[in-house]
Amino acid sequence: MATHMDPEEFRRNGYAVIDWIADYWATLADRPVTPADPPGTVAARLPASPPERGEPFDRILADLDTVVTPGLTHWQHPAFFGYFPANTSGPSVLGDLVSAGLGVQGMLWASAPACTEVETVMLDWLAELLDLPTRFRSTGTGGGVIQDSASSATLVATLAALHRASGGRWRGRGLDRRYRVYTSAEAHSSVQKAARIAGLGDDGVRAIGADPYTLALRPELLRAAIEADLAAGDVPALVVATIGTTSTTAVDPLPAIGELCQTYGTWLHVDAAYAGAAAICPELRWSHAGLEYADSYCFDPHKWLLTGFDCDAFWVADRAGLTEALSVLPEFLRNAASESGAVVDYRDWQVPLGRRFRALKLWFVLRSYGAEGLRAHICTGIALAARFADLVRADDRFEVVVPHPFSLVCFRLRATTVEPSDGQPGAAADALNAELLHRVNATGRVHLTHTRVGGRHTLRLAVGAPQTSEREVALAWYLIERTATALHRGAADAAAVRATDG
Ligand SMILES: *Cc1c(COP(=O)(O)O)cnc(C)c1O
Repeated sequence: MATHMDPEEFRRNGYAVIDWIADYWATLADRPVTPADPPGTVAARLPASPPERGEPFDRILADLDTVVTPGLTHWQHPAFFGYFPANTSGPSVLGDLVSAGLGVQGMLWASAPACTEVETVMLDWLAELLDLPTRFRSTGTGGGVIQDSASSATLVATLAALHRASGGRWRGRGLDRRYRVYTSAEAHSSVQKAARIAGLGDDGVRAIGADPYTLALRPELLRAAIEADLAAGDVPALVVATIGTTSTTAVDPLPAIGELCQTYGTWLHVDAAYAGAAAICPELRWSHAGLEYADSYCFDPHKWLLTGFDCDAFWVADRAGLTEALSVLPEFLRNAASESGAVVDYRDWQVPLGRRFRALKLWFVLRSYGAEGLRAHICTGIALAARFADLVRADDRFEVVVPHPFSLVCFRLRATTVEPSDGQPGAAADALNAELLHRVNATGRVHLTHTRVGGRHTLRLAVGAPQTSEREVALAWYLIERTATALHRGAADAAAVRATDG
C-alpha cells in the first residue's frame, strides 16, 4: 500500500526544503560557477535501479548536496554571465510552490477558472508595465497568454500566420502553395524549428541579411526577398523580427519592417525574449518603437524579470485568429461556459492541452517587487554591463564589438594584438579569444559564453542574476585582463590566476 506524506509531515519536510533553498542561495557565491567533472559523473552517483521500498525524506534531501549541486552550472550565481540570464527570485519560487500544491489543470476556463482569470489579468498588467500597444490587451480584440518558452510563442505565431495567409486552408485541406517565413540571419534558431514543425521546411525560411555593424535586419533586403517570392507565386506569410537578438542583442528596425508587413499583408511576430523586459523602463522603450504594427509579440519574464523558468508572455492583436487556427473541440471538453463565448480557454492558445498555474509566480513577483523594484533590477543590469564595457574600452588590447543597449556586452581581444599567422587572417585572434574564454571559465569563479560576430570569435558577458553586483563584474574583468596578459606573454597559467585573490 502506498504511504502518502500526511499534511504534518509535508509541513516539516517543506520547511526543510525551504531552508535548503535559502542555504543554497546564501552560499552560492562560495561555489564554483560551473562544475569541473567530466560527463557521466552525476549519473554515476545514482543507483542503477529505483528503490523497491520508500526512503525517508531527509535522505532524499541530503543527496541534493552530494549528487545534484556539485554537478550544476549555477545560473543564479552572482558571477554567472553566460548565455542570457534565467533569473528567479523568492516570490517566484514561492508562487510556483503554491501552483505545485494546488496541482490544477488550466486547459479550460471551466477546469480552473482562477487559473485562467489571474493569467489574463497578469498579461494585461504586464502589457501596461511595458506600455505595449492597446491592441494586445484582453479588453479589446487581443490578449495575452503564458507559453512555456519563446520558441513555443514563435511556433504558435507561425501557425496562426499560416492559417491567416492561407485563408483557413492550412487547417483544412492543407497548404497548396509555398508559404514563406522571413527573419534576420541573426534571429533565434526557434524560427527555423517552428517552420520545420509547421511543414514549411528549412527552405521555407528566408534569412535576411543584417547590417554589418548593428546586426539589425536590413528592410530593403526584406522587401527584395518578399518581391522575389511573390514574383515566383509564393506567399509571404510571416516576418519574425527580433528586439535583442540572442547573439548580440541587435534590435531590428520595427517601423520599417512593420510598414512592409502592412503593405504585403504579412503577419509580423516580434520576438523580444530577453530584451522585452527592458521596456519596463521608459528610457528603454525606444527599443519597442513600431510595435503597433505587430500581430504578435513575446518576451520571457523567465530570462530577465525575476520569474523562474518557464514563463514566456505572448500576446496577439487578434485572439480569434489564433484560436481559430488551433482550436479542436472533442466532446469531453464541451461545456456551457465555453459555449457561451464569455470565457477564455487557453488550450486554444498553445500546442499542449494541459497547462499549469504559471500566472501565480508572475502575480507574486509583480506584487512583491512592484513596478519600481522591477525597473531597479533592469537598470542595475544595464548599469553593470555599461560599467564592464567601460573597463573593456579602457584597455587598448580589447574592443567592444557591437552596441550594448541592454545588459549584454560583446567584446574580444583585437586581432592586432597577435602576430599575423601564416594561416587564415584572424584565425590566430580567434584561437586566442577562445583560449582566453576557456581559461577564464576554468577558474570556476565566473562564467561567460561566446558567439561569432562577423565570423570572428567573440566573448559575451550577460548580466542579470539577482545577486550580481559591481564586485562580480570587477572580478570578471580582473580575471579576463590578467588572463589576457598571461596569454600575451605566452606563459599563461590558469592555476596562477585561480590562486590570485580578486
Ligand atoms: C532565448 C531566446 C529565445 C528562446 O527562448 P526560450 O524561451 O528558451 O525558448 C528565442 N528568441 C530569442 C531572441 C532569445 O534570446
